[in-house]
Amino acid sequence: MKKKRTISIKDPKLRKIRNNLRLLLIRATSAEWRKYFDEQHRLNTDLDGNIRNLSESKKPRTAELTRKMNEIKRIVEASIIQCPVCRKIDKDMIFNPELKEWYCIQCYRGMGEFYYQEKEARAKGLVHDDFHEDFYKTFLD
Ligand SMILES: [Zn+2]
Repeated sequence: MKKKRTISIKDPKLRKIRNNLRLLLIRATSAEWRKYFDEQHRLNTDLDGNIRNLSESKKPRTAELTRKMNEIKRIVEASIIQCPVCRKIDKDMIFNPELKEWYCIQCYRGMGEFYYQEKEARAKGLVHDDFHEDFYKTFLD
């Protein structure tokens, strides 16, 4: 998808179906992520829960588990099922073609408004050092 696109559902019954489907997907991906996390935790800690030095033979497996957890996180964040800012799963969404991510309408607009607020603050000499202008610019119409 290369264009900004909004998916909005007005019918309350369809909204409920969409939200339940998203909840199901979030639960499934969370369960999968948790499975990898638990295995990695078992490899990294002893029976008392203390962090132990990992043997060389177990390092490839923990690296693989980290990759799998990151991949699940990346897939969820790039999907339409959850807003990456507010984490809500029951919202109408807008696709940001530059970031290739879906955001809820409220957060999308908030990011665009923040861009203008930050530009105005900078014009007045009130500089916040962690303002990523190129990122926030992608939320402008
Ligand atoms: Zn949001």
